[in-house]
Amino acid sequence: MRVVTVLGARPQFIKASVVSAAMLQHEDMHEVVVHTGQHFDANMSDVFFAELGMASPAYHLDIHGGQHGEMTGRMLQGIERVLLDEKPDAMLVYGDTNSTLAGALAAAKLHIPVAHVEAGLRSFNMRMPEEVNRILVDRISSWLFAPTDEGVVQLQREGIDAARIHQVGDVMYDVALHHGERAKRMKVSAVERLGLQNRGYVLVTVHRAENTDDPHRLQAIVDAFIEVGRQLPVVWPLHPRTRGMLAKAGLLSSLERAVRLVEPLGYMEMVQLEQSAAVIATDSGGVQKEAFFHRVPCVTLRDETEWVELVSGGWNRLAPPNNASQVAIAVLEARGRAGDSIQPYGDGHAAAKIVTGLAAL
Ligand code: UDP
Repeated sequence: MRVVTVLGARPQFIKASVVSAAMLQHEDMHEVVVHTGQHFDANMSDVFFAELGMASPAYHLDIHGGQHGEMTGRMLQGIERVLLDEKPDAMLVYGDTNSTLAGALAAAKLHIPVAHVEAGLRSFNMRMPEEVNRILVDRISSWLFAPTDEGVVQLQREGIDAARIHQVGDVMYDVALHHGERAKRMKVSAVERLGLQNRGYVLVTVHRAENTDDPHRLQAIVDAFIEVGRQLPVVWPLHPRTRGMLAKAGLLSSLERAVRLVEPLGYMEMVQLEQSAAVIATDSGGVQKEAFFHRVPCVTLRDETEWVELVSGGWNRLAPPNNASQVAIAVLEARGRAGDSIQPYGDGHAAAKIVTGLAAL
């Protein structure tokens, strides 16, 4: 079975690391990886291939920047050409980015069945580009690999044939189990490298357009972490888009004085910082779950989340970044707050289940 996988963004490299490894174990599977180029900086792309033991992509389309339509359109063209040459039996895509949509759409038009990892997630906010991408990709997929029960129920609600829906658990849990222990055993920890104390800092990540591209929300986030920084060190690996928007808004220097801004980290260092944080504040989907995997309280800087089970389970709380003081209070109050004993993301074998599902074509 020949599978073309389309990857483009940081979380997709991380998720694919375990599924590609499981495919390699399967003697009848051959995977061809296409990197769209959506994320292209070494610290947003190459580092993950190196750290997570992944082979270099067979194709690199080098497409990034521009508006959503332009980027997705160019990807569609490039991926279609690869599919016409490779003639795969299936297309594998992850998550909700423009690369996910382009991969799925190019394949569906050529009658190549699509497998979607992370199917069924919804924010119910159609202003998010990710929500548009997910809904469209789920609609045209033949295998819908849902990470949670909630995802399965949502797909059923949308009328998707139950035979196509597979609850496999979350591949990010597989990755966290696989590399979490390794991160702890490494000689040098990012916690020490950055001069931080165990449980003595807040880890922040921000990258969603709804926060970076809205001046009021960006200002509220900056003010909130300047306030938090007066009480607890704050470390913030800055996504390139966020850095750009902060610089444009003239917010970078005041933030830099109050908060430890660092370049985007490799996965191992990121995990080390997550494992020892007092609180994680983020608008990332993956980081919300990793906070839970490492049993660290999380504050989500959004109006809603797809990972609702972490909110109801007490591990996560929403702090919409409209008001700086409220965000700062939410972050400081989250310290030491453990949630319920829940296990919503499977048993750590999602990747193997995905490959078994694919092989049963
Ligand atoms: N991540 C990383 N280095 C960083 C920030 C995040 O390795 O500096 C990892 C993080 O541990 C998680 C993934 O990137 O596994 C999340 O990706 P991102 O926040 O870009 O996307 P999302 O999960 O929101 O789709």
